[in-house]
Amino acid sequence: MTFESLGLHTSILRAIADTGYTTPTAVQAQAVPAAIAGRDLLVSSQTGSGKTAAFMLPALHKFAAASENLNVANGKTPNQERQSARSRGERPRFQAAKPKMLVLTPTRELALQVTTATDKYSAYSRRVKAVSILGGMPYPKQMQLLSRNPEILVATPGRLIDHMESGKIDFSELEILVLDEADRMLDMGFIEDIEKIVAATPENRQTMLFSATLDGVVGSMARRITNEPLIIQIASSATKHENIQQKVHFVDDLSHKNRLLDHLLRDQSLDQAVVFTATKRDADTIADRLNIAGFAAAALHGDMHQGARNRTLDSLRRGQVRVLVATDVAARGIDVPGITHVFNYDLPKFPEDYVHRIGRTGRAGRKGLAVSLVNHAESINVKRIERFTKQLIPVDVIEGFEPKKSAIAMRSPARKPSGWKPGDKRKTGNSFGNSKPGQRSFSKPNAAPRSEGGGYAGGAAKSRFGDANGNRRSFGDR
Ligand code: AMP
Repeated sequence: MTFESLGLHTSILRAIADTGYTTPTAVQAQAVPAAIAGRDLLVSSQTGSGKTAAFMLPALHKFAAASENLNVANGKTPNQERQSARSRGERPRFQAAKPKMLVLTPTRELALQVTTATDKYSAYSRRVKAVSILGGMPYPKQMQLLSRNPEILVATPGRLIDHMESGKIDFSELEILVLDEADRMLDMGFIEDIEKIVAATPENRQTMLFSATLDGVVGSMARRITNEPLIIQIASSATKHENIQQKVHFVDDLSHKNRLLDHLLRDQSLDQAVVFTATKRDADTIADRLNIAGFAAAALHGDMHQGARNRTLDSLRRGQVRVLVATDVAARGIDVPGITHVFNYDLPKFPEDYVHRIGRTGRAGRKGLAVSLVNHAESINVKRIERFTKQLIPVDVIEGFEPKKSAIAMRSPARKPSGWKPGDKRKTGNSFGNSKPGQRSFSKPNAAPRSEGGGYAGGAAKSRFGDANGNRRSFGDR
């Protein structure tokens, strides 16, 4: 399949050619023609699947086609109206921005990434401007962006509501609404904001909702806000992370963990890495420590101002930062091809965050390595992740860094993810089979199966995975 066969406008095909994409991804192949035909979409696909282009290309196509019709009819866009008013010497009155497309994202990082991708895909589209309206951005800057009356608005829900309520944005001409990573927005407690925003848009809009899952609360909201949607479920290799090698290293204590991390960061094959921590303070402390140890490290977390976050991400993109030490604020939305390694210094609170974290490596079909440094007491949480991903994570041990407690003792009887049946082709143990010389894997492919059932709901799991922030359910609670 080619992009030409999807029926996209020539200006967009030109931009795609510049990006170097040759073939549409699975989600693009299914979503683009349906969206061009005007269908609402409910898409279950994850980061790395090419979902941004899946909703942005058909939208840009629609605007390009409409702009041609406008030329024929000699009509004027709102911006042209303003310019005409200015040339007639009239002082343009304050007008609310009237975007034609709104993309809602859970995080600022993802919003900026969507805007950057849109700029790329619209490089040859006339009269299309995309801006991000985000919390943390100075208010005058936001007003300046809105005064340009952008066709495409990419926003996080909270800040958008502020502007709607003060009359700075008018959605009466909105044609396309996209909810990107809708599950995450609901997890973050944005449901009321989303409902308010949706209610302010025209009923005849086109709605495209992207989410890792279409079950539960997301599913019911999705069905409420869409009209006879086409449901697309993609289990891409990026979703399954087949190109990402995963490993667990057991550690005895913090000092063992730090020594092991330092060692692993010196891996010759490492280009750039993200180290995920549970707390902002740890992100700062570890980044400082790694800098002193000679790594070009930087921290990224939610306490930093947006400007500082952007500068850090720019330095990462330019390769000046080799090791980013981040909280889950970076688990989604960072798309830097040079990231070869992801380290879970702390395991994430929720199994789905593990999937997003490791998806920072292995971008655009490259290979990646994801290593979790795990305390013995946390092995139950590794099992939860394995059940969620339906993949086993092999345990690895490096000579000189062996944990005192044997990995066999910690992980036997053998671990099989839920859904595993005898005779399954899926490998157990060191399924990647590529331990380097000097490394030993203690996973036992043939050990006796563990009985499934009670083991996942224990106290340790509850404390770490329980519904700590009230509106988020852990995998174990589903
Ligand atoms: P996304 O899932 O939208 O975050 O995209 C993941 C990565 O895939 C980004 O780096 C995109 O630039 C890249 N990408 C998107 N579509 C394609 C395609 N058709 N071919 C190759 N790379 C793509």
